[in-house]
Amino acid sequence: MSDTIFGKIIRREIPADIVYEDNELIAFKDISPQAPVHVLFVPKTPIATLNDVAPAQAELVGKLFLAAAAYARREGFADDGYRCVINCNSHGGQTVFQLHLHLLAGQALRGGFA
Ligand code: AMP
Repeated sequence: MSDTIFGKIIRREIPADIVYEDNELIAFKDISPQAPVHVLFVPKTPIATLNDVAPAQAELVGKLFLAAAAYARREGFADDGYRCVINCNSHGGQTVFQLHLHLLAGQALRGGFA
């Protein structure tokens, strides 16, 4: 299992506000939210970056998105909309090297990518 801070959350070694968990992934609120809703969806298997996803793990990446969409429906903001982002390496702004999907919602988000 990953030894990043997210690995510690998965192993319950440090606390987090966990909103969803199954055998393959965990979701918890971002400690420094960039929108009224900011949840991270993290596979439990250690994968450092999107570059490291093997073809056999394509379904797992899909499950991150489906879990985010299910959360949006459950929380009632699916129709209003939301944004899903995966940052990769330094130019992508990645700071925690365990693959994760950001779900941002709760207000009209600014356009643009830089
Ligand atoms: P990234 O920059 O894409 O690697 O995203 C890492 C995210 O993890 C940032 O949005 C951080 O605010 C968030 N983060 C870091 N430590 C924690 C933590 N202990 N609990 C929840 N979120 C965290």
